[in-house]
Amino acid sequence: MQLKIQKSCMLTVQAFTFNPVQENTYVLYNDKSQCCIIDPGCYFASEEQELKDFIEKGNLQPFYLLNTHCHLDHIFGNRFVYKTFGLPLYLHKLEKPVLEYGPTSGQLWQMPFDNYDGELNFLDEGQVVQIGEDRLHILFTPGHSPGSISFYSQENKFIISGDVLFQGSIGRTDLPGGDFSILEESIKRKLYTLPGDVIVYPGHGDSTTIGDEMKTNPFVKMI
Ligand SMILES: [Zn+2]
Ligand SMILES: [Zn+2]
Repeated sequence: MQLKIQKSCMLTVQAFTFNPVQENTYVLYNDKSQCCIIDPGCYFASEEQELKDFIEKGNLQPFYLLNTHCHLDHIFGNRFVYKTFGLPLYLHKLEKPVLEYGPTSGQLWQMPFDNYDGELNFLDEGQVVQIGEDRLHILFTPGHSPGSISFYSQENKFIISGDVLFQGSIGRTDLPGGDFSILEESIKRKLYTLPGDVIVYPGHGDSTTIGDEMKTNPFVKMI
């Protein structure tokens, strides 16, 4: 199911909601048809096909496969994207054990899958992923998962936040490596310091803005 198309200045954000956990997968592309794929959660063959069709019909050229973090709902499609487009995975190094735990987690949740087994490329705070002229700044935002990162486009005023911050909610902190006080710190210091009109594209649910969450988020408020 295609959710919405949001035209930014230069990067367009296409969201898909995939798998039984209803995870948001994002494809970001520019006017030169260069794109990156963030958290491909496609689980069923029909979902893989939907992602592939979108990229092929748009004549998009995929350059990067990125993970905000490696909970299973965000990584189901890593292997498919790797095999289909030849893209190696980029993630934070603290997510490596989370990625490796994926298939065990898949058994536990009765969603078995074949894990990504290609090369791992690590990203950390301060690094930049470049898509043509556009840059995604890496923010280290742990707490929901130990190596959660967010992808911030300053020029296009949006952030792909994974499961750190949601509309009216925050990521759960009861999974291995989760910690509420660390998550709260990430949100206050890394996200709530961004301009209020920055759009947040979260790992689940609808998009929101930094300003709205600062004012109304019941879990982490900035007064
Ligand atoms: Zn998660
Ligand atoms: Zn998730």
